Amino acid sequence: MNTILKVDDINVYYGAIHAIKGVSFEVNEGEVVTLIGANGAGKSTILKTVAGLLSSRTGSVQFMGKDLGGIPAHKIVPMGLALVPEGRQIFLQMTVEENLQMGAFTRPASEYDESIADVYQRFPRLKERQSQIAGTLSGGEQQMLAMGRALMSKPSLLMLDEPSMGLAPILVEQIFDIVRELNQHGTTILLVEQNANMALSVAHRGYVLETGKIVATGTGAELLEDEAVKKAYLGG
Ligand code: ATP
Repeated sequence: MNTILKVDDINVYYGAIHAIKGVSFEVNEGEVVTLIGANGAGKSTILKTVAGLLSSRTGSVQFMGKDLGGIPAHKIVPMGLALVPEGRQIFLQMTVEENLQMGAFTRPASEYDESIADVYQRFPRLKERQSQIAGTLSGGEQQMLAMGRALMSKPSLLMLDEPSMGLAPILVEQIFDIVRELNQHGTTILLVEQNANMALSVAHRGYVLETGKIVATGTGAELLEDEAVKKAYLGG
């Protein structure tokens, strides 16, 4: 199995706050891997560290065999690693299509037509709304746009930070269906979620994070059946 991402013993601080305490995990090619945990457990901090937006005081992050230590975020995206941040952070004043164009800025112009056709095929809703101002899209559509924009960079690893946040249950299901579909078409995904039930249902493997430490790991199915996980994260 090809390991795409290997995070080894990272420790991340915000000033004096020790947010991530010796975390190690990996993502293999073709997998959906999820990190679940309560508010403040450190899920977003881990994704930001992998993306080069925060730095780890110790340990290493290896992506496709390369050490990412000291490489700034803007140089990590063209290496094939895309982050869809929490809260989406799309460009609200721009149209749908302009947002997608921004996602392609690391790619050769010659690929653009094919990439945008792929994204519109995956998200027909975005195609219908290509000229609409992004700020007027619904929450679910904005999440689709954020994911579509990330896919424009042709990532080898797509990292999603709480894609279900703030969405009605039906839209949450749609977003997870899309995650499953993207994976079936070959995209490797690292998914951070508070919605543990949904996340473990789509994931091949998961890690449970508690106050900056990994406390359990297993296949999605194993974690869904784990008594401690059920009690803490699955409402029963
Ligand atoms: P949530 O689901 O609420 O986003 P999370 O698991 O993603 O939670 P993080 O956002 O990674 O958690 O936060 C981990 C810890 O680090 C929390 O205790 C948080 O208060 C702290 N933290 C996060 N960002 C900062 C910051 N910029 N400055 C100081 N502390 C921070």
